[in-house]
Amino acid sequence: MALGVPLALRAIGSAVDARLHRVFESRPAVPAPPGLPYADLHADPLLWDRDLLAEGRRGHVDLPRLLRGGVGLQVFSVVASAPLGINIHRNRSAAPDLVTLLQVAQWRAPAVWFSRKARALDRARRLSQAARDSGGRLVLVRAKDELEAALAAAPQARPVAALLSLEGASALEGSPENVAVLHEAGFRVLSFSHFTDTEFGGSAHGQDKGGLTAAGRAALGEMARLGMVLDLAHASPRLFDEALSAWKGPVLVSHTGVRGTCDNPRNLTDAQLRAVARRGGLIGVGFWPHAVCGRDSASAVRAILHAVRVAGADSVALGSDFDGAVGQPFDATGLPRLAAELALAGLPAPAVVAVMGGNARRFFLRSL
Ligand SMILES: [Zn+2]
Repeated sequence: MALGVPLALRAIGSAVDARLHRVFESRPAVPAPPGLPYADLHADPLLWDRDLLAEGRRGHVDLPRLLRGGVGLQVFSVVASAPLGINIHRNRSAAPDLVTLLQVAQWRAPAVWFSRKARALDRARRLSQAARDSGGRLVLVRAKDELEAALAAAPQARPVAALLSLEGASALEGSPENVAVLHEAGFRVLSFSHFTDTEFGGSAHGQDKGGLTAAGRAALGEMARLGMVLDLAHASPRLFDEALSAWKGPVLVSHTGVRGTCDNPRNLTDAQLRAVARRGGLIGVGFWPHAVCGRDSASAVRAILHAVRVAGADSVALGSDFDGAVGQPFDATGLPRLAAELALAGLPAPAVVAVMGGNARRFFLRSL
């Protein structure tokens, strides 16, 4: 009985994982070109009960699939909370937390059930451990020289450089001083809100959708002192504007769609695309249904082309949201085919290279 409970819970967690992370298209993958590696600004495999180093049948991302997909830079996001009844319009701040349930279903240590900070630190530790066990094929990157070294490796021995980001500041547990704790654990990218408003700022899907709070300004001060990157994915329109004017450091929107091809509150307006581009920031365009209003790679191509038209090819990157509790047209091995489809759709070759990875590599080499 005592052994049966965790096994049964983990089986439920795995079934949820498999059901959420479908792959809609079944076209064969094409091999990754030998050139410079692709980059992706947002994927969530750390949320699930999986071995990152073994090729899995569930979900979208693990090390073997990233390597086959030609990815050399992957931002691994850590989300510490998500509201029950999650939707892109309005979520109550006091809604029960799904990530807590998931920690129990995965039978993690009890400390992780109750503390969102402990949960984020636990996932950072698991990513570091995976990197140590990977035989050099997965490298946790915290500084510019580490990223340079990873990118300089010969293509056949090239590792995946992994960056840690915190999605929604609930892991700060209300206190800006925790920015330094998370930075110490390896986090280099931070956003203030996920699907609910937080002490730091409003969510596009929150109850009040407010702006940047006093705690948010204090957290920005800590981020500037430590040299971190601000992520405005999921920000309310007010937070988006107020954070952009208060923050002078590097900024990106790690995973989003564009209203020009898919008009809903999850996605960026053309004015927001231009505002990020003016700041030298990056827009990570994703592929999932709420981002692109379709289940096929053609919808993802349309969204990327729109972002390039409005923001310029130097400001657009990939923000897959692989394993982010959403279905996807393809998994990480589908990225070379996406590159081919962008070229077929008329995106010039240098722009394809920039969007698929060049912009993200340049951004982080400058920002870390
Ligand atoms: Zn997200």
